[in-house]
Amino acid sequence: MKYPYKTRVGGATVTVFVPYDCGNHCPFCINKGEYADLTGFSVDAICKSITQMDALTPACDFVFTGGEPLANLPSLQRMLDCVPATHKIYINTTLPVSEHCSQEDLLAFAARNRGKITCINVSRHLQHYVQESNDELLSRLPVPFRVNCVLYRDYPAERLIPYLERFRKIPGAAVQFRFDYTATTPENLYRRSGDRILDDLSRVARYTGLEGCRMRCGFHFDYRGMALTYHKTLPYSTMVERDPVTGVTYAILYDILIKQNGELHADWDGTPLDPEAYRAAVFEPYDLRWLEKIA
Ligand code: SF4
Repeated sequence: MKYPYKTRVGGATVTVFVPYDCGNHCPFCINKGEYADLTGFSVDAICKSITQMDALTPACDFVFTGGEPLANLPSLQRMLDCVPATHKIYINTTLPVSEHCSQEDLLAFAARNRGKITCINVSRHLQHYVQESNDELLSRLPVPFRVNCVLYRDYPAERLIPYLERFRKIPGAAVQFRFDYTATTPENLYRRSGDRILDDLSRVARYTGLEGCRMRCGFHFDYRGMALTYHKTLPYSTMVERDPVTGVTYAILYDILIKQNGELHADWDGTPLDPEAYRAAVFEPYDLRWLEKIA
């Protein structure tokens, strides 16, 4: 059944899967399999789709993810250069340093794109899932950054405080802990009782409030002056809902994907986006709001 699209003011976030891989094998990764065969992957096709999405929603946010966006700086530069300044750009990365790309190369890239990049989200987990570069690199980043940490299954809670102390020393650091989103359901999205992560964070940090929307939420904490969030999101990006006023049923889009071959998808399960239907999308105010705020 096809429904007309509805999305938030400015448009759904566009997540771009870069056409090259990372060197890691995180146990919770659901993207890795797509990088096993690079046939059809194309920077040109992705650039075309970026331009198409810019024409449809000139103020949407773009997120570059992978794979590893910073593993191929010339290709990432080409893609970033297709995104006009009306958009915010986020980059999900491990900040990989290698014999082909030094710390100074990464810093020079970030400095060159300072005016484009809104935030770099750096993966650093409690367990050693990703190849990590030196923490000193974080302190030298010329753009805002956030540390992302997936608390996966039976994570070692006793490492939380040493982990937080590690980043608290770095000026400008904020940490986002993430629930395994493949395990998130509409029933447990906001549930507090029995949520181990919430319990563990409440023991080590001061709870400051909750913000959320239909699709995702964030429990906020303060750890000795450093901002923490515990983020949960549903494992899909489209919700079907009937508008109680008009009676029209809409497919409400939160994320649009540009795949490694440039294809546009409306959900993580391979559902294609219909760009012509999206051109006629109805916009609503973003439903993300503070639900609780503690002074
Ligand atoms: S670094 Fe990211 S893309 Fe690579 S395996 Fe880990 S989660 Fe997957």
